Amino acid sequence: MSVLNVPNPPWASEDTELLAQSAERFFARECVPHYDSWEAQGCVDRDVWRKAGAAGLLCPSVPERYGGAGGTFAHDAVISRAAHLAGVEGFGISLHNAIVVPYIVAFGSEDQKRDWLPRLANGELIGAIAMTEPSGGSDLQAVRTSARRDGNHYVLRGQKTFITNGQLANFIIVVAKTDPKLGAKGISLFAVESDSVSGVRRGRNLDKIGLKANDTSELFFDDVQVPASALLGPEEGLGFQMLMEQLPQERLLVAVGAMSRIERALIATIDYVKDRKAFGQRLIDFQNTQFELAECKTEATIARVFVDHCIERHLASGLDTATASMAKYWLTDLQCKIIDRCLQLHGGYGYMNEYPIARMFRDARVERIYAGANEIMKVVIARTL
Ligand SMILES: Cc1cc2nc3c(=O)[nH]c(=O)nc-3n(C[C@H](O)[C@H](O)[C@H](O)COP(=O)(O)OP(=O)(O)OC[C@H]3O[C@@H](n4cnc5c(N)ncnc54)[C@H](O)[C@@H]3O)c2cc1C
Repeated sequence: MSVLNVPNPPWASEDTELLAQSAERFFARECVPHYDSWEAQGCVDRDVWRKAGAAGLLCPSVPERYGGAGGTFAHDAVISRAAHLAGVEGFGISLHNAIVVPYIVAFGSEDQKRDWLPRLANGELIGAIAMTEPSGGSDLQAVRTSARRDGNHYVLRGQKTFITNGQLANFIIVVAKTDPKLGAKGISLFAVESDSVSGVRRGRNLDKIGLKANDTSELFFDDVQVPASALLGPEEGLGFQMLMEQLPQERLLVAVGAMSRIERALIATIDYVKDRKAFGQRLIDFQNTQFELAECKTEATIARVFVDHCIERHLASGLDTATASMAKYWLTDLQCKIIDRCLQLHGGYGYMNEYPIARMFRDARVERIYAGANEIMKVVIARTL
């Protein structure tokens, strides 16, 4: 489903097309009918994770020998796109597949992969990544959560906030300082299985203006004893480097989400203006409506070409940080502008929550803030000038 005049991207294949169709059916059947109640309860039902695992929608880019489908980021991207086109915004499946799991694939030992990946693929484990703390999210080097080595264990102490999947997640990658004196080189990553340790306390499921079906939460680590084997990587102090390696994919994923929402906003608005009448004619017959949508469609087409180009480069050799930052900042800004213009064409109905465009307006706003605020993206891009 696309409203844009673009050919199938070179990175798409018959395989990704079939996966997209299967994901589209899954979200329509298993998520859309429950979405209002998920928004009301502030999280998705636990069992949808198991169902997504059974449907082959978890860990599509994980090698088959670890329980995945042996695909690539292209497979992650089409599942993410299908979720956004269906309006299933709060189900943190894309974060699980394309942000959390890749840390294990890239940096996990053979034992860690064999232990965790099959359970991440079948929905027994739900992923989260805990970087942000109440004292700040943009400055990752300043994290205060500590991890102290104690024999065969580490003891984690600290507080995190705004953590996507925070209430349901039982596999949490925690960013912590193993040596506070060393700055970035003192940061390590730990994979915490919260069901098998004590001291992981879940705080509030935060009351947000959008993404109501996601359990974005506070998390507290009260002297949590994790086995030494929870450390990711061969030694302490590699956490910041690992984050920097993985952030381009996270930023690209956000851009893919923004692109999908832009397409959904256009589809919903074109339908609406063809139906609604004012002054005896359809809204689409006003030249202003046509010009507004012509401009939006043009910008969306340019955006789609750029996103496809970034995906292709990412698949070929890994996308560089600056280009991924361009995609994240520019797409998420554009998304907010286009959704706002589309909402305006809905008149008062655009402000009513029962209309998809109203929900899109609320859900989209955070994209300019998380995964690195857009200002941080510009700092990164500016370094290349
Ligand atoms: C719904 C939601 C889900 C989230 N999910 C997760 C998650 O799963 N895991 C996780 O770890 N975090 C998550 N976050 C946190 C998110 O990544 C942070 O909110 C974000 O990185 C910004 O950090 P902050 O809120 O502390 O803002 P601050 O760091 O206080 O920055 C505030 C603002 O100051 C400006 N600013 C900051 N630094 C600079 C600079 N160097 N130059 C110019 N301007 C600057 C920017 O405008 C920025 O938006 C989530 C947040 C939300 C709202």
